[in-house]
Amino acid sequence: MCNCKEQSELIDICDDHVEFKAKLNELDAGDRLLLMSCPDCNQLWKVDNWDDYQPCYAVKISTQENWVDFDSDELIKEKMIENRGGLSGKYCMWSKCEGKQVRGETLCIEHFWKTGSRH
Ligand SMILES: [Zn+2]
Ligand SMILES: [Zn+2]
Repeated sequence: MCNCKEQSELIDICDDHVEFKAKLNELDAGDRLLLMSCPDCNQLWKVDNWDDYQPCYAVKISTQENWVDFDSDELIKEKMIENRGGLSGKYCMWSKCEGKQVRGETLCIEHFWKTGSRH
């Protein structure tokens, strides 16, 4: 049996992307993206098609329609904050930005995102 239900909405598959994809069926492919479905529960997953310099996340989606356009940025941002243990009490170093710094970083998540980081 699969464990799709227990998985969070967005998961980091960098370390086990081969294994993760092996369990799923490929339905469609986009630019560096795959639409995959679980043979057990039919859960749809939008999966980054991995290469060294790309982020590699899999996100649950509910419909095949416009799957390429499903925007997982906000979920990735949440995950990045979570990975660092939340936000610190300090303000972002960016001039006039009122966002709180991500713990261990000097920027808020929006500005940190703009540096290109996706982990
Ligand atoms: Zn499943
Ligand atoms: Zn900022």
